[in-house]
Amino acid sequence: MFDALYLEKTEGGFSATRRRIDDEELVAATPDADVTLRVEYSTVNYKDALALTNRSPVVRRWPMVPGIDGAGVVEASTNPAFSPGDRVLLNGWGVGETHWGCLAQRARLRGDWLVAMPQGLDARRAMAIGTAGYTAMLCVMALERRGVAPADGEVLVTGAAGGVGSVAIALLARAGYRVVASTGRAAEADYLHALGAAEVIDRATLSAPGKPLQKERWAGVVDAVGSHTLANACAQTKYRGTVAACGLAQGMDFPASVAPFILRGVALIGVDSVMCPLQDRREAWARLARDLDPAQLERITTVVGLDDALQLAPDMLAGKVRGRVAVDVNR
Ligand code: NDP
Repeated sequence: MFDALYLEKTEGGFSATRRRIDDEELVAATPDADVTLRVEYSTVNYKDALALTNRSPVVRRWPMVPGIDGAGVVEASTNPAFSPGDRVLLNGWGVGETHWGCLAQRARLRGDWLVAMPQGLDARRAMAIGTAGYTAMLCVMALERRGVAPADGEVLVTGAAGGVGSVAIALLARAGYRVVASTGRAAEADYLHALGAAEVIDRATLSAPGKPLQKERWAGVVDAVGSHTLANACAQTKYRGTVAACGLAQGMDFPASVAPFILRGVALIGVDSVMCPLQDRREAWARLARDLDPAQLERITTVVGLDDALQLAPDMLAGKVRGRVAVDVNR
């Protein structure tokens, strides 16, 4: 038996509870798994918060154990790539959506989804980073691959005080970029400066409808917000600059024109973490282990227990949670 969060459809609609689950029930729910993981830490990402509140259709199989991220120790494996005792981490692949997830003390997963824990990280730190931090790294890699360098000018990070934004600021600042953080929370200015933001701007300057082409400012953008914010960020990006889009905290719409792309050669790169190939995942995680300052990660991180994960999900959707939330599943 083990503890897990458990989402089910009920007569009243939906329930999310902490409960004891039988190992046999886990085996029956995960017939295609070949690795059993003793989960040590999981996380609450924006997508987990959507699942935990049933606010949008993240969960596509019922009942569901949520948790799109997990890290811990392999207990049993029929996959030749993994042996008992191996330390691993997992992000995405539909886990916590269509496959039972990691907001639980035990999970059964597919070995070809797993990344060996990079040297320099442990389960707690890996889950403090989580999908949000790994996505921030994928965004930084997208800018770098297009040749955006610190000497090219300022980089804008939107949704700055959230998980993706906080990690993106820490990574970019450490790499030498001048980072401008866009936030709706003026009270978090000190936090954002401490992460390395050179300047903090009010997100209201980006979130309303704007002109198709605006004054050129950004060499690169990491956008976790979408909607008008993404449209304005593109309209303000410098000639041949690059915008990495990964999120929709303001909205899924993209009310933009083609002008920045066809007149300024701006590139808009989509970043997906869920089905991202293993090669890029391994590169992103190796870079996170090497390039993310552990002291900055601590500044970003709050550690909670399984029950707290349920409590804080609505706050996360309301944009009230700062930085990253790691979940100690044994708490
Ligand atoms: P968080 O909730 O931690 O952060 C989101 C931030 O967006 C908030 O902190 C807030 O920042 C800002 N925000 C919230 N509401 C609005 C609004 N109405 N208008 C403008 N800004 C707003 O979430 P994450 O950082 O974990 O995720 C950010 C986004 O990225 C989400 O949409 C998520 O779904 C997406 N995502 C996508 C992934 C992918 O694979 N493509 C992977 C991971 C995340 P502030 O208070 O500073 O303004």
